[in-house]
Amino acid sequence: PIQPTSKIWHNGNLIPWDKAQIHVMSHVVHYGSSVFEGIRCYGQPQGAAVFRLPEHMQRLIDSAKIYRMTLPYSLDQLSNAVVELIEANGVAPCYIRPIALRGYGEVGVNPKNSPIEVYIVNYPWGKYVAGDDGADVCVSSWSRPAPNTLPTLAKAGANYMNSQLIRMEADINGYAEGIALDVNGYASEGSGENLFVVRNGVIYTSPLANSVLAGITRDSVLTLARHLGITVVEQALPRELLYIADEVFFTGTAAEVTPIRSIDRIPVADGNPGPITKQLADEFFGIANGLKPDRFGWLTPVNVN
Ligand code: PMP
Repeated sequence: PIQPTSKIWHNGNLIPWDKAQIHVMSHVVHYGSSVFEGIRCYGQPQGAAVFRLPEHMQRLIDSAKIYRMTLPYSLDQLSNAVVELIEANGVAPCYIRPIALRGYGEVGVNPKNSPIEVYIVNYPWGKYVAGDDGADVCVSSWSRPAPNTLPTLAKAGANYMNSQLIRMEADINGYAEGIALDVNGYASEGSGENLFVVRNGVIYTSPLANSVLAGITRDSVLTLARHLGITVVEQALPRELLYIADEVFFTGTAAEVTPIRSIDRIPVADGNPGPITKQLADEFFGIANGLKPDRFGWLTPVNVN
């Protein structure tokens, strides 16, 4: 359950949590017309910092552009709004949820007269994918949308109907998460995480062409791996590669770096998090938590006392 904070940012103003409401006839309610982000603010020895804030806001702008939504705020305005909100609420560490949606105005599918509303919410939040020693996951019977259906590079609300099918199915069958295949049968990603495989010291992840979101954590992990001198390959992942991998892990803002312990009840190697997963998780959490130097400029400090 969400722990409410004091304020929500709405179209440039901070409004009370309870006043952030939309009409049932808003376009988004009927047709899924929203784009959003999920961002984390980490606690640090000297306070707190938002992880890769401009990159997330750029993706929000990109998602909006794909759907012909013109956001009336610049990258800087959106990024500053997040800092302003966190400082006003005084809640950190936290999760940040910016959302741009088509509002109340038009009932038809064509949204041309629906106003665009932008909200930013922040609230405290913990771990996402269950299992500290690794998650038990399945390959989903649902696929990610084909490339010419719902564009997966847009982080759009409607895409998460597909994610819900994947996640609910996994859950009722006793798995922490599902891995969806793409329309050609290659492993793409989890319902809300990118997927990585390690085999013989090489890191593999699905390319953007395989119906994945361009994850910011995916990019961070690829950057860290290259920096550590580990070979990384973006290539289509055959399903069976998952079963014979040395290591498999998820990445995501919510999932962070989550080791996968088994897939379809087949253990990944000996079932324990592998050395490359651990090394990447160490680097990732080290930077996010301010215990290692921010050598890639990923952190935006916020003042919360
Ligand atoms: N894929 C999907 C479908 C997601 O929802 C997410 C979470 N935003 C990710 C991948 C991971 O992206 P990121 O690392 O930017 O959170």
